[in-house]
Amino acid sequence: MKRESIGFRLAAWYSLVFACGLAAFSVAAWFAMGASVYHAIDDELKDRVTGVTRFMENQISALSIPEIRDEFREHSVLGPGGDLFQVCDGQGQWLYRSLPLENASVPIMLPSSLPRARFDNLQVERDWLRFYSQRITVDGKPYTVQVAAPMYEAHESVERFGLILMLAMPLVLLLASIGGYWLSTRALEPVDAISRAAQRISIENLKDRLDVPSTGDQLQRLSETLNAMLARLQSSVQRMKQFTADASHELRAPVSLIRTTAEVAVQRRDRSAAEYLEALDEILEESERTSQVVDSLMLLARADSGREVVEWGPVDMAALVHNALEQGEKLARNRGLQFSSKVSQIPVGVQGDADALRRALLVLIDNAVKYTPEGGEVNVGLGSDDGVAVISVADTGIGISEADMPHIFDRFWRADKARSRQHGGAGLGLSIAKWIVEEHGGSIEVQSKPGKGSLFRVRIPFDHSGDSLQAR
Ligand code: ADP
Repeated sequence: MKRESIGFRLAAWYSLVFACGLAAFSVAAWFAMGASVYHAIDDELKDRVTGVTRFMENQISALSIPEIRDEFREHSVLGPGGDLFQVCDGQGQWLYRSLPLENASVPIMLPSSLPRARFDNLQVERDWLRFYSQRITVDGKPYTVQVAAPMYEAHESVERFGLILMLAMPLVLLLASIGGYWLSTRALEPVDAISRAAQRISIENLKDRLDVPSTGDQLQRLSETLNAMLARLQSSVQRMKQFTADASHELRAPVSLIRTTAEVAVQRRDRSAAEYLEALDEILEESERTSQVVDSLMLLARADSGREVVEWGPVDMAALVHNALEQGEKLARNRGLQFSSKVSQIPVGVQGDADALRRALLVLIDNAVKYTPEGGEVNVGLGSDDGVAVISVADTGIGISEADMPHIFDRFWRADKARSRQHGGAGLGLSIAKWIVEEHGGSIEVQSKPGKGSLFRVRIPFDHSGDSLQAR
């Protein structure tokens, strides 16, 4: 419907413009035709006056007036319209007057009243005649020569031409409009095909693509743009599906573990209090783990929905790192690791959410502790580099292989599921940390060697807003 209306509108505009152009052209052609016809008559009249003048110059001294009249009469019947002329002398006496003019009351024009030659259209009986009057001098005497030509033929041809234009114009306009409509609908046909193809694509067949015409024009670009959009949609939907599947799997495992533990505890009635306590401990641990996963999922869901999750304010990074170090040290000690730190004494202030930044830092410290075997080392540092606060978390743990490196920030991704799970990991820590850091305008990078250890480095730009830490 839309396409048709565009096609119709295009054709209508085209027809309107064409009609205006055609009308202007026809009027101009009609005027040009008229001008050229009358110009031809005028040229012929001038030639005839020249002929009469030449005749008089040659014959007037040799012939008497009646002889001249006879000669004129003889010659006048030869040319077309040649019988329409008259000559009078300076006193207004007719030297010659052709028959049709004798009966007509054409006013006499004395040579003295004709400073220059002139054209007049006069009605003689029923016909319109075009007169050309010129003063000539022969043998020192002035004469007026007037020649005339009927105008009906010229009128008729101009009128005929006008009629042809009037009849042809609507026909040409009709043909042009039909052609214009056909062309515009034909030009819009590929757009229609693209929209039909786009309509067929739904969430179920997002992998389908539109045909791309290799025309190098807007239609090709439109198809390519839509295909690129489909590819982006497909990968987003794929990620969403993967996320939902991973999330449900991640939640199902602890829930079924809780259920099995509770069922076993309930079924065997001869259990000791210590055994019940152990079962309850297990249930508690799994529920804590589950609520942690739910927390993480909620955070990521809010982050995805674009809602404001971060509460902005000035943050003293040194204080924040000190605080995280205490927790880190405890974790490291429990796992039999050496823990060291190198924190810059200069107050390093950034603009951001202290809780969120602490959470990101704890993810890194927790991972360093989790993935470093007993006897290893974990080092946390804070410094500054060219307007940026730099936090580093290094360990001498298992490291990350080159192949795993591109995936470690993906949601639910774990190099070794069993190992990660054993430490309570769901594969969400680094994706959350990355999101938090990027939300603060920063970046997170990693260097690692399998078997040697890993180094995570977080960069967060300083607070340049003037709301400095010292001022607080
Ligand atoms: P998890 O909860 O499994 O730790 P993360 O998103 O925090 O999830 O980390 C993703 C994966 O990256 C981990 O499962 C682990 O394989 C790898 N990883 C993260 N930090 C380290 C590290 N410091 N040393 C070795 N591997 C790491």
